[in-house]
Amino acid sequence: MFVFSTYNQIQKHLKKNSGTLGLVPTMGSLHQGHLSLVQKALADNDHVIVSIFINPTQFNNTNDLKKYPQNIAKDQELLNSIDEKIIVYNPDAGDLYPNQVIAKSYDFGSLAFYMEGAFRPGHFNGVATVVEALLRKLKPNRAYFGQKDFQQLRVIQLLNSQLELGVEIIGCHTVRENDGLAMSSRNQMLNKEERKAATLIYKTLEKLSVYRDQRNISQMKAFFIKNIAKEKCLKLEYFFVANPNELIPVKKIKPNKNFWLYVSVYAGKTRLIDNTELKRL
Ligand code: AMP
Repeated sequence: MFVFSTYNQIQKHLKKNSGTLGLVPTMGSLHQGHLSLVQKALADNDHVIVSIFINPTQFNNTNDLKKYPQNIAKDQELLNSIDEKIIVYNPDAGDLYPNQVIAKSYDFGSLAFYMEGAFRPGHFNGVATVVEALLRKLKPNRAYFGQKDFQQLRVIQLLNSQLELGVEIIGCHTVRENDGLAMSSRNQMLNKEERKAATLIYKTLEKLSVYRDQRNISQMKAFFIKNIAKEKCLKLEYFFVANPNELIPVKKIKPNKNFWLYVSVYAGKTRLIDNTELKRL
């Protein structure tokens, strides 16, 4: 494994090696969800860079940033066990933000307006700023993002086309724990009771995903709230149904259109997001 803290070092390293380059941007505390992106990138490309950088500009809450888990030694060990050729890019903020560590301002229209865009003001400007810097500096052929952060994936696809960055953006399926909970670095912040309770999030989504024709959306939301209320530590932040292209929450489900459920739930003080496709019955 090669570990670099500046993109100049990576450029020098890659100069000697030709071939395609895949990038997996992460904030570290790696788990099997991240590793599934890395495996896909390894299968598709000659070289793979995994960036590990906790991007301050995408946190609208300083406490959330302070609490964000990090374990770079374990991350490197995990990556090395997969493939010794992996390039780890673990920069200081100065390498990605040459002047000030501030987010740029973008217009992603409806894609960044609702859900995470509404509940985490400025979040997508921060995400887009760092991803733009990574794509421009590292110039990968392909970059890999998880559907777990569905809205982020759609925003990055739009960023890539708006700025004509020419990178192939690959969306990857959500990897889950055996009990269905979407893997997330934040899961390690849950205590035993919250961890057990959190399984209700996906279990309830799964139940709802087959109820397409039986319930309207306010009934679906009421069902979600009632079901997670079985666990005292769970509290709904949002429940939306939206078409995955525009990501505009709808009140009614139209036949012949594809819809997904998107939720944000607090388990104690930890904020968890998840989503699933509504199955066509
Ligand atoms: P993060 O470190 O949380 O910023 O995530 C880095 C990348 O891994 C993002 O593209 C996430 O969507 C993706 N990711 C995180 N969790 C999962 C998961 N459970 N399954 C698939 N991809 C994931």
